[in-house]
Amino acid sequence: MKKKTKLIHGGIPTDPQTGAVSTPIYQVSTYKQDEVGKHKGFEYSRSGNPTRHALEELIKDLEGGERGFAFGSGMAAITAVMMLFNSGDHVVLTDDVYGGTYRVMTKVLNRLGIESTFVDSSNPASIEEAIRDNTKAVYIETPTNPLLKITDIKEAASLAKKHGLLTIVDNTFSTPYWQNPLALGADIVLHSATKYLGGHSDVVAGLVVVNSDQLAEDLFFVQNSTGGVLGPQDSWLLIRGIKTLGLRMEEHEINTKKIVDFLLQHPKVSKVYYPGLESHPNHEIAKAQASGFGGMVSFDVGSEENADRLLTNTKYFTLAESLGAVESLISVPARMTHASIPKDRRDELGITDGLVRISVGLEDVEDLIEDIDQALSK
Ligand SMILES: *Cc1c(COP(=O)(O)O)cnc(C)c1O
Repeated sequence: MKKKTKLIHGGIPTDPQTGAVSTPIYQVSTYKQDEVGKHKGFEYSRSGNPTRHALEELIKDLEGGERGFAFGSGMAAITAVMMLFNSGDHVVLTDDVYGGTYRVMTKVLNRLGIESTFVDSSNPASIEEAIRDNTKAVYIETPTNPLLKITDIKEAASLAKKHGLLTIVDNTFSTPYWQNPLALGADIVLHSATKYLGGHSDVVAGLVVVNSDQLAEDLFFVQNSTGGVLGPQDSWLLIRGIKTLGLRMEEHEINTKKIVDFLLQHPKVSKVYYPGLESHPNHEIAKAQASGFGGMVSFDVGSEENADRLLTNTKYFTLAESLGAVESLISVPARMTHASIPKDRRDELGITDGLVRISVGLEDVEDLIEDIDQALSK
């Protein structure tokens, strides 16, 4: 099955009970048992719900893994994955991971004894240097947010394997349509499905796919024990969103390339970060491991004042957190998505006050370019 077909025919495309071609929203918490323990596969919706199950089967097929899991948010998914580890275990992570990932590792999971070290994972040597006796996993996000740094998944995974560690990949920015980390050697792939997978700014959700029976069993145990599951209505919205993921990703990319070309020649823009640019330091790796470069671009306008002028004057780029939806969004990472990272650390990473991040939507690209142009010239 080719990619666009799988988005529509993967998972459980028709409801086995009724033949409905859209999996119904099974708004239900419990299920009749004929005898004690004898049921039709569902007993209580924290453990399993048919609508959520259809979504979990779909993401499993899209990522090519053993089992899929749906959570109430990306952070719930990430936290559940980290709960596979024990007090005293150590995880090596990409240094410019999503701000919430940094926060949960350094302010919550650290209290439970899960240790973390953040490294520039685009340089494999720095991953290896951080590995200790108690290290259990390498957690990478690629491309990263907001500097669009790329980690070589195959190389990171083989390095992890050599040391007996799990490889976990946050695939939110690329989506399974462009990039399949499990095929490159990762053990666990996860998503904030709030972004491109949902695609319409109307649902908060997280998805995970694992590549082995053992991980499937372990993560199911955590999911069922801690209970951060996705509800049936939101599961349905995601299934619906995913059907058009291919069309959306192709179009995001077409628009993004034109906007990048525009930004590159603009005198007020000092730096453009986009993995599709040949000048991007990891362009070749990005090209080899993903079939598209995505719709996220960051660029530097020099100062907080310039950034503010741009943000407050765009009409189609909405000033908002989040990304990956049909509508174009604009943000300043330093004061928004990455505000939970301390300032000295942000400066260290290159997340300057003048750095602007855009999530290119599906509006007509001529309107989008005109919009940035007029806001930049204010
Ligand atoms: C948004 C995001 C998350 C967190 O997901 P939520 O759905 O907001 O909890 C994790 N990783 C990345 C890369 C994200 O963009």
